[in-house]
Amino acid sequence: MKAPFTRRSLLGAAVAGTAQLAWPYLARAATGPLTSTTVADGVTLLHGAGGNITAIDTATGVVLVDCGADVDAGPLNDWLTTKRADKPVSHVFNTHWHLDHTGCNDVFTARGVPVIAHENTRLWMTTDINSTWNNRVYPPRPTSFWPTDTFYYGVHELDVGADALRYGYLSQAHTDGDLYVHLPERNVIVAGGVVTDGSYPLPDYVTGGWLGGMIDSLNLLLEICDDNTIVIAAHGTPVDSKHLQAQRAMCEDVLTKISNSYYKGESYAEFLISLPTRDHDALWGEPRQFLHNAYEGVWGHITEVRRYLQRGSR
Ligand SMILES: [Zn+2]
Repeated sequence: MKAPFTRRSLLGAAVAGTAQLAWPYLARAATGPLTSTTVADGVTLLHGAGGNITAIDTATGVVLVDCGADVDAGPLNDWLTTKRADKPVSHVFNTHWHLDHTGCNDVFTARGVPVIAHENTRLWMTTDINSTWNNRVYPPRPTSFWPTDTFYYGVHELDVGADALRYGYLSQAHTDGDLYVHLPERNVIVAGGVVTDGSYPLPDYVTGGWLGGMIDSLNLLLEICDDNTIVIAAHGTPVDSKHLQAQRAMCEDVLTKISNSYYKGESYAEFLISLPTRDHDALWGEPRQFLHNAYEGVWGHITEVRRYLQRGSR
C-alpha cells in the first residue's frame, strides 16, 4: 500500500524536480488554480494546466490521464490534496510525450506511482528532439520523468476494481506514441492530442505524427464510441462522436489535396495558393501551422498514401 500524498510530499517532490529542470521544460507560465468539471460519474476534467488533466475515481484510488506542465505541479497538488485528500493517485497515464502533458511525471515517479505510456513516448524522452516546426531542441528528459510501464501494441486493461479501464495504442497520429484511455461503463474516452475541440489538429511530424495515422486513430476511436460517448481531447472542452467524424472528414480531404499536389509536382507555395482548407476554416480556424505539419508529415509516408485515397471518404 503506498503512502497517500500529502501537500508536503507532493510539493517537496515538485520542488526537487523543478530544481533539475532547464528552461526549455517550462512549457508555459502557471495560470493559477485548476478549475474542474465533472464530465461523468467519477470523471473530472481539470482545466487551466498546460494540457487537460483527467482525474478518474476508482475503487483503488485516483487515475490521472496526463498531468500538465511542470509548472502545474503546485496547482495539481492543491487540487488533489483538497478534493481527493482521502484517495492516493494510483496510476498516471501519458497520452504522448509533449511537455504540457508529462511535466509532473517526476512528482509521481518519486512516490512510486506507475506512469503508463506507449514505449515510443518513453523513447522520445530519452533523446534530443529537434522540433523544427516550433524552433526548439528538446534535450533528453531526466530519468525521473520517464514512464515506468510501457507497451507497444494492442488493448490493455488496468485492474482498478469494479469498472473496466482499458487503454491502447493510437498509431502514428499526433505523435507516434499516442494512447487513449477508455472507460466503457462511464462511456468516456480520453483521447489526448489526436483529437482537438475546435482548432486544427497538429500532427507532430518530427516525432512521427501524420494525417494518415490520425485518420486511422479516429477510425479506431469511432469504433468504440456511440452517440453519447464523451471524448476528452488534449485541450479544451469534451466532444462527441459527431465531432470525431467531422475531424476525420477534414483530415481525409486535406490528405487527398496534399497527395494530389505531390503527384502533380507542385511546390508547397503552389499548394497553398489553392487554399486547400477553405472549406474547413470556418469550423477549424487558422490553418497555417496545421497545413505545414500535415504537408511535412505526408512526405514520410508517400508510398502509403494511395491506400488512403483508394479507401475514399466516408
Ligand atoms: Zn501534444
